[in-house]
Amino acid sequence: MRAPDPYTATADITHWVAGASHRGSGNRQQTVWNPATGTEARQVLLASAADVDAAVTAAAAAQPAWGEMPPIRRARVMNNFLALMNRHRDELAAMITAEHGKVFTDAQGEVSRGIDIVEFACGVPQLLKGDYTDQVSTGIDNWTLRQPLGVVAGITPFNFPCMVPCWMFPVALACGNAFILKPSERDPSPALLMAQLLQEAGLPDGVFSVVNGDKVAVDALLHHPDVKALSFVGSTPIAQYLYETGARHGKRVQALGGAKNHMVVMPDANLDQAVDALIGAGYGSAGERCMAISVAVLVGDVADKIVPMLAERAQALKVKNGMELDAEMGPIVTKEARDRIEGYIATGVHEGAKLVVDGRGLKVPGFEAGFFTGGTLFDRVTPSMRIYKEEIFGPVLACVRVPTFADALELINAHEFGNGVALFTSDGGVAREFSRRVQVGMVGINVPIPVPMAWHGFGGWKKSLFGDMHAYGEEGVRFYTKQKSVMQRWPDSIAKGAEFVMPTAK
Ligand code: NAD
Repeated sequence: MRAPDPYTATADITHWVAGASHRGSGNRQQTVWNPATGTEARQVLLASAADVDAAVTAAAAAQPAWGEMPPIRRARVMNNFLALMNRHRDELAAMITAEHGKVFTDAQGEVSRGIDIVEFACGVPQLLKGDYTDQVSTGIDNWTLRQPLGVVAGITPFNFPCMVPCWMFPVALACGNAFILKPSERDPSPALLMAQLLQEAGLPDGVFSVVNGDKVAVDALLHHPDVKALSFVGSTPIAQYLYETGARHGKRVQALGGAKNHMVVMPDANLDQAVDALIGAGYGSAGERCMAISVAVLVGDVADKIVPMLAERAQALKVKNGMELDAEMGPIVTKEARDRIEGYIATGVHEGAKLVVDGRGLKVPGFEAGFFTGGTLFDRVTPSMRIYKEEIFGPVLACVRVPTFADALELINAHEFGNGVALFTSDGGVAREFSRRVQVGMVGINVPIPVPMAWHGFGGWKKSLFGDMHAYGEEGVRFYTKQKSVMQRWPDSIAKGAEFVMPTAK
């Protein structure tokens, strides 16, 4: 593969309203960093409540015609967008690496998983079909249909600046809604490119908007009476705030939160495969994935065998500028995030966990000012430690030793998060028992990161998701539409006289 072109634009990142770049009030902005070089790359404008209102007004004006358009015509726009996303995949990936830091090949994978949802959205007309019962009563028919909500919004995290927005807007748009995206202020560029591609695909102006910003923009969306639903993905405290505030303002909300994903290794597992899985899922994207494995639960005598293997691999990780094609791990998104992660490592040492590999203070030659930290491995972590209980969101893998499978299951079920989980075993009965009894939304059996494909839907349990419905898939279609039931009869079947009793089938 040829070395990709880096993304080096320096222009301010604006909003996207009514089909055009929009500076809005423009009096607040924030630096977007290049985490590999540790330098300021560009500025992102931060929306005021008035800027959000301008986007909602444009969206509310454009939505009725879009919602009236036959679903197949909306799907054709998504088809055009699908082709454009495929054509611009590497450009999007380079933007992601430039602002997030993850390695380019992983960024390509992120874009591809986003494109999967666009492809799913092209088939949404099939899911918008209603149900019909002929003759629910003599001369009466009853059917249900699903209609768009109107203007809906999505608020997304820094760690998947392309894929997570794609969990939301392709489905929402295909269902006939107008969509306002508030991406993370740390890596906002891919959202603007996707807005331009949607326009090129034939999406009417105003149907998709981007408001860049922080809490001010989020609160304006939460309080705006014309925003009917909010999808959120991010940390648990903010997810809970969104869910509660949105509900108080009468909105439909799905709010996906943080995670602490465990991977259980049974004594009968193939240990080489388990080590590969833990290294990839623990340190890939520098651990900044909501489905990253951050806890290895080692059953019986597995720890004595596996910890030295993990240590060797963690020390050998190729940590580099993500644009280098052999890089396995890039920098952390910001200096603050890197310092927070290294602070957790100090806490782990203080709490008495055994620090097997210490990634702190890593300097990458030629990128000494970058926000790098190496892979860190702890052994003998216990459930009372903060490094076990809290989400670190970095390349820190904590090994917990347990005697039996039952102890592993109990440990996981007692944790406040329930996003993803994995079990490595060669015993089908144990695998079945685990997948049925574990209190976690997404389960992998010998699969470390079981992110569901586009038509299955994504969502955790417990404090990893507030709301009823998972993202994308059929649940996404349900979230972005409301059901209406129509009961109909025609004059020649209407019985004479008023009826005063509850009607029943006749
Ligand atoms: P974050 O919660 O800091 O930010 C998410 C979004 O909320 C951003 O758009 C941000 O601008 C906004 N926001 C931040 N503070 C706010 C506030 N006080 N009021 C209103 N809005 C606010 O999350 P992050 O650091 O960008 O992303 C990492 C987190 O996201 C991790 O906790 C990770 O587990 C989680 N995540 C979860 C999933 C999932 O599917 N469950 C997926 C990806 C990431």
